[in-house]
Order: sequence, then structure tokens, then C-alpha cells
Amino acid sequence: MISFSGKIYIKVARAIAIGAIGTSLITSVILYFNAISSEQSKAEALIEQIGATIRSTASIALYVQDQELGQEIVQGLVINDLIAGASLSDSLSLNVSYGDLSDNKGVIRTQVRHPFIPEQSIGQLLIHPNRNYIQRIAQQNAINDALLLLLYSAIAALFVSVLIHKLLTQPIQDLTQSFLKIDPRNTETMRTLIHKDNDEIGQLVQGINDLMGELKITLENETSLRKKTQALESKFRLIFEQASAGICLINNDNMISVANPAFNVIMPNWTEGVPFTHLFENVDQLASLLIRIRNEESVNHLSIDLKCQSQLGQANKWVHCLFSRVTSQRASTRQSSSNGHSPLIEVIMYDITVRAEKERRARFEADHDALTHLKNRRAGETVIDSLIQKVNVMDMALVLFMIDLDKFKPVNDTYGHDAGDRVLIEVASRLKTVFDGKDELCSRWGGDEFVAAYVVNTINIPEIEALAQSTLDSLRHPIDISSDISCKIGGSIGVVIAPQHANSTKELLACADKTMYRVKENGRDHFEIYNPDWQ
Ligand code: GH3
Ligand code: MG
Repeated sequence: MISFSGKIYIKVARAIAIGAIGTSLITSVILYFNAISSEQSKAEALIEQIGATIRSTASIALYVQDQELGQEIVQGLVINDLIAGASLSDSLSLNVSYGDLSDNKGVIRTQVRHPFIPEQSIGQLLIHPNRNYIQRIAQQNAINDALLLLLYSAIAALFVSVLIHKLLTQPIQDLTQSFLKIDPRNTETMRTLIHKDNDEIGQLVQGINDLMGELKITLENETSLRKKTQALESKFRLIFEQASAGICLINNDNMISVANPAFNVIMPNWTEGVPFTHLFENVDQLASLLIRIRNEESVNHLSIDLKCQSQLGQANKWVHCLFSRVTSQRASTRQSSSNGHSPLIEVIMYDITVRAEKERRARFEADHDALTHLKNRRAGETVIDSLIQKVNVMDMALVLFMIDLDKFKPVNDTYGHDAGDRVLIEVASRLKTVFDGKDELCSRWGGDEFVAAYVVNTINIPEIEALAQSTLDSLRHPIDISSDISCKIGGSIGVVIAPQHANSTKELLACADKTMYRVKENGRDHFEIYNPDWQ
């Protein structure tokens, strides 16, 4: 654009000038040769005319043999610049000459006739043209013509270039200058271009103005859109950077592609290259959840509480995660799913360790006895419900022990309630040991009453009896209340088997209760297995 600026008219002028000079030179050469031959012809014609005018005088001079006259005639001829030399002679004795007679080329011979008998030749007049002079004149004329032609050509070139400059290059140069001032980044510079005439350039300018108008509107819209987008982006970036929630994006390989500072605070163990799923204990559950979000059209969001992988010595950490398929990619994902591409998944994460711990404790407290930390009656009944279902489905059996301590009340009365509590804690510990390995249920049913239950493939009465006996033995051992005081208690155990004796929790517990009270009535400190035949 810049090389184009302001140069065309100079180029045109130069081209015209070169063309004109070239043409002028060729024309001058042609004119030169034409001028020489024409000058020579003219000179010859002139010399012949001169010769003709003096022919009668020469005739007289020869007729009277007047040497002097003859000499005057040839001298008179040589005065003319066109004539280099001349000679007049006859066959008798007159022979006069004057000037340069050396160049015989182009000599004009004129026969001199008898003054009275025109048919008779009495001599000849030789006129030697001054060829150098004629040639010089011809050259001079040719040069003058050529110079004139060059002048015409120069004037024409100048005129045409001025015309082109005024009509074409100046407007184009002005347009170019205006164009150079336009900065597409600054729409203020996109002013209307001006060209007054309605010629081709005017139409071009009109077209450019229309185009620039459209472009200006488009650029202004684009600029305002970009500003809005930038403002929005910086707001979102601020939210991303400052958010208290951890935010990250995970890709198709479950790798974290971007994470905010809060994420790094919540998950300090995360390092580049560790898959997101490996940050948590329930890897498989989490992986299948991510597959669901990626593949199930109807599932856009899923949330879950996850327990973090904890390093040795670190406390358990829990996070609540909300997983969302990245919406902007949804459409393309649907299209590209056949290509094997999956969308990014956005994860918003909150540290819920405190809440989770509270919930866990609340759940534990709701299901467990505060003193012994064994399951309580409410949780115990739920466990028995599910165990009965299990043994029915799997054709197995459930053995249930109902254990009540013998003469426990006196411990309280004698040593105090706290001592009684210590006894209950120790009993719970011993029961856990006895039923270790088969403790589907080991619970405190209330007061000094405990219920233990376990599942067996086949009913083996001797085995059950042996376990009941072991339980009694463990309870019989003295229990230390303080450093110097220990007490001895025992237990009464009622044993029932589901589904053999009963097939519901309520009936099974009723049977166990009945059996245990029967043991109490029969002297305590032993076990009995329920017998349906009892009255
Ligand atoms: P039995 O041989 O007939 O079973 O009589 P027992 O003395 O063991 O008394 P019983 O089983 O009838 O009653 C249980 C007692 O346990 C009643 C209550 O004083 C005591 N008890 C209940 N809950 C607690 C407790 O949490 N702590 C303490 N220390 N004692 C409890
Ligand atoms: Mg008791």
C-alpha cells in the first residue's frame, strides 16, 4: 500500500517520457535520413536551376571564347554555399574552373548549346555540389526537428502526467493517506472517505465507505462484546480464585486439568499426575459416578460425600462434591461422543469433615450404647431383621443369645452405680471377645441384658452349647472394680435359633426372653436352648 502511495503519476510520466523519447529518437533517425536525401534533392534542384540560369551566359562565353567571362561565371557559381566548385570547358581552348573540384560525386553536368544553333553542343558546365555543406544543413535541420519533437513529447508527457496526477493518483494518494490513518482497533479513526466527483474513484470511495460503515458497526459490537466478556471473565476468575469451595475440572482420564487455590487447600495431598478418583477411599464408586455423568443424558449433576485418602497419622477428612457436566460442551459432547471424546466434569468441593464427624458421631450415638459402645436395642432389632432375611434367602440359620447378668443389682447397691457401670463395660468387652469373628450382632439390650447373634450355615448344637458355655465362663471370672476390690457375677443365657424356633424378630426375641427367664427360674448361671414344646 505504501509503495503504491504517490508513485503512479511519476511512473506514468516516466513511462510516457521514455516512450516519447524512444519514439522521438527513432523518428529523428528516420527524419534525419529523409532530411539528408530531401536536402540533397533540393540542393540538386537548386543547382540545376542556377545552372539553367547561367547556361545562356556560358553559351555566349564559349561562343566568343571569352576566358574572363567564363571565369566570372564559375566564380559566380561558387559564391553559392551549395556549390563547392565549377568548371566550364569546350572542345577548343576555353577551360576555366573555380573552387574545389576534387569531389566528383554528384557532379551536375550541363551541356552548353550553341547560341544560335540550339541542337549543337559547344561545351559543358560541371558544377560540383558542396556535399559537406548540404549534409551539415540536413543534419542541422534533422536535429532541430528531433529537438522539436522531443520538446513536444516532453510537453505531452508532462501534460498527461499532470492530468493523471490530478485525476487519478492525487485522489488515490489522498485515499491512501486516509486509509493509513485508519486503525481497526480504534473505530473513531474509521471516518468517511471523501471524493467529490462521481467518477470511477467516486464509486470506489462510495463502496469503501459503505463497507467501512458495516465494518465499523461490526467492530464496535465486537469491541463491546469483548469488553463485556473480559469483565465477566475477570469476575468469574475472581470467583474461581477467591472461592472458599474447591473447584476443579476433570478430563476424560479423570485427571485434574485445572484447580483453584481452595482446592489445593482442601486436598493438600493432590499433586500433578494423580487421578481425581485416587484422592478418595471409595475409588470404584466414584469412578462409576463419573461414568454416569458423562454417559447418561438425563444426569447433569450428582453430589456425594467422599472420604479422602488419609496419609499415615492424618485425621479423616470428608468432602462434599457436586459433579456437573460442563454445560458449554454438552452439545458438542453429544455429537462427539461417537468420536470417543468425553466432556469435562466440573467439581465443586466443600470440606465437611466437621459436619461428617458430627453426623458419624450422631449416628453412632443413635445406634450405640453410650456406656459400653455396643449396639443398642434399636440398632440390634434392625440387624436381627436383616439377618433373618439373609438366613431365609440363603438357607442358613441365625443363632441368638439373650444374656442377663445374675445378681447385678447388688453390685450397684454395694459398690455404687459407677462400679456397676465398670462391670457393665467389662462384660461388654468380654462378650465382644467371645463372639469375635462371628459377631454379626453383639449388643446391650438394656440394663444388665445383652443380645448376641450370628449366622451359621448348618445348625450344630454342640458348637452352640460350647459357645454358650464359653460365654458363661467368661462372665464368671471376677471383675475388678477398683485396685483392691473385685466382684463375681454370672449370667443366664437363653438361646434361640431362626428360622427353626421363630422367623420374625419379635417372635425370636420373645422366645429368647422366655428361655432366659426360664434359666433364671431354674437357678441362674447356666444356658438353655429354646424348646417349642415348653408350656
Ligand atoms: P437377676 O439376677 O434376677 O437378674 O437380678 P439382678 O440383680 O441382676 O437385677 P435385674 O436384672 O432385675 O435388674 C438389673 C439392674 O441393673 C437394675 C438396675 O439397677 C441396674 N442397672 C440398669 N442399668 C444400669 C446402668 O446403666 N448402670 C448401672 N450401674 N446399673 C444399671
Ligand atoms: Mg440381672
